[in-house]
Amino acid sequence: MAASAQSGHEFDIIVAGGGPAGLSVASEMAKKGHRVLVLEKETAGQTKRSWFVPPFVLDGETRQFSYGGVTRFLAATYSGAKTQWRAKLYPAYPYIDEKKILPYWVEVIEKNGSAIMNNTEYLRHDISDGRVSVTTTKGIFTAALLLDASGYDSPVIKQLKMEDDSYYWWSVYGAVLDMPLTGGLETGDYMMWQTFKDTNPNPKASLAHGRPVFEYEVLGPNRVFALLLFLRKKQVTKEAMKPLFERMLRREDSTAPFHGAKMIEEKFGWYPSGEVSQNKAADRVAFIGDAGCWTTPCGWGMTFILQNYKTYAGKLDETIKAGRLDAEALQAIPALRVTEEFQVVFDKLVMHFLSNAPAPMLDKFINFFNQIDPILCERMFTLTLTKEDFEESIALFLKNFTFGELIRVLPVEDYGLVIRVAKLSVFAYIAAYWYKFTDWLAGRKNNKVEGFSYEEE
Ligand SMILES: Cc1cc2nc3c(=O)[nH]c(=O)nc-3n(C[C@H](O)[C@H](O)[C@H](O)COP(=O)(O)OP(=O)(O)OC[C@H]3O[C@@H](n4cnc5c(N)ncnc54)[C@H](O)[C@@H]3O)c2cc1C
Repeated sequence: MAASAQSGHEFDIIVAGGGPAGLSVASEMAKKGHRVLVLEKETAGQTKRSWFVPPFVLDGETRQFSYGGVTRFLAATYSGAKTQWRAKLYPAYPYIDEKKILPYWVEVIEKNGSAIMNNTEYLRHDISDGRVSVTTTKGIFTAALLLDASGYDSPVIKQLKMEDDSYYWWSVYGAVLDMPLTGGLETGDYMMWQTFKDTNPNPKASLAHGRPVFEYEVLGPNRVFALLLFLRKKQVTKEAMKPLFERMLRREDSTAPFHGAKMIEEKFGWYPSGEVSQNKAADRVAFIGDAGCWTTPCGWGMTFILQNYKTYAGKLDETIKAGRLDAEALQAIPALRVTEEFQVVFDKLVMHFLSNAPAPMLDKFINFFNQIDPILCERMFTLTLTKEDFEESIALFLKNFTFGELIRVLPVEDYGLVIRVAKLSVFAYIAAYWYKFTDWLAGRKNNKVEGFSYEEE
């Protein structure tokens, strides 16, 4: 029977936020016998998000909520850069049915004697006498530990003044569409990058300068999830994104198959993109999911949650049993998905590049996948790059862009990345200079992008 959650009741753990991070970890902790209270300001089990993930993050319990998946990657820009390939690393990257997996976790929590309070907002917390007391819109509750799973706009982070301004933010607005698959669209298609000239009149403008990207995932016959994304230091409001999305969908020549689509469900949200740094914690307060930046530097927060929630809960259980709920012990819990520094460094470089590179540099980047094995792109997404992939990619970047161009893509506070790359890839530097030498011998000129500078609007 679900535990009652009246004002003043005591719990082992209070979870702020009933999204995928809060519900998944709460379900595991409830299974292990902890009395958990999940506070959700809306309705736990419902979301405006939708996901696809690499298959290796699913297990016997979560696989039942997956279906179909991405089987073909595509990219196209207004100036003519184009690529496409059949998924190579895995036959498919499954879609997760958000309408089934979240309610499943709700059921597990309640079946194991823990509680969920909907329409209940976390407001603040105080720590005294070894307990956290959490003030909500429906009263005060106490527990030994507060787990913040409130996502992109965490009030806990604000209260503790732990904001991190190094993050970029993906801002997303889109919809699930009912439409026939015409114009070459196939079930399993993932348009990972499409841009249009008239969404920003400056041909050199980067995403940081306000160029949006159009994406879509073909979920099945007559079902497409299409979305618009920004990658910037500032979150872009839903009000600003919605009309742009509608214009991309209805008025661009290259989206003709979408022009008559019927919108059946609105989707939107914001998620962080930062270094894989899930070690935020304070005494008796830990952070999970987007609130704890459980993302790869390129996003993919649901992937991270699915891969880590059980390991995290197991380690949290041990830490609680050892009586350690201080910041140091809580910081030590997260299980990094990656152990190799070069994977993190490379993903971070790509994140700066995607946000700050002007359109001509992005066109070249997209064309790389016609020159090299595109499995590299899939390994980059899944944080499974090998050292050889890393060196090959760095050499390719150095061959195709001048050092000056690359450095201008980095914000000043991250210039240190250049040193990290150089230390990790001496071979790539030598290879890049060899390429330049052979180019020179062949009398080929480097195709430079004219001056631009990194600058947020
Ligand atoms: C449109 C979209 C598509 C995406 N696609 C993918 C994908 O294909 N693959 C992938 O791996 N990742 C994807 N992501 C990223 C992924 O959705 C997020 O990383 C993931 O949802 C993070 O889960 P979370 O539980 O930490 O946060 P959220 O999903 O944001 O959930 C936080 C919850 O906390 C609640 N809350 C907030 N404040 C309070 C408060 N004060 N009190 C109580 N409750 C509160 C919110 O109502 C919400 O229910 C996508 C994101 C978006 C927006």
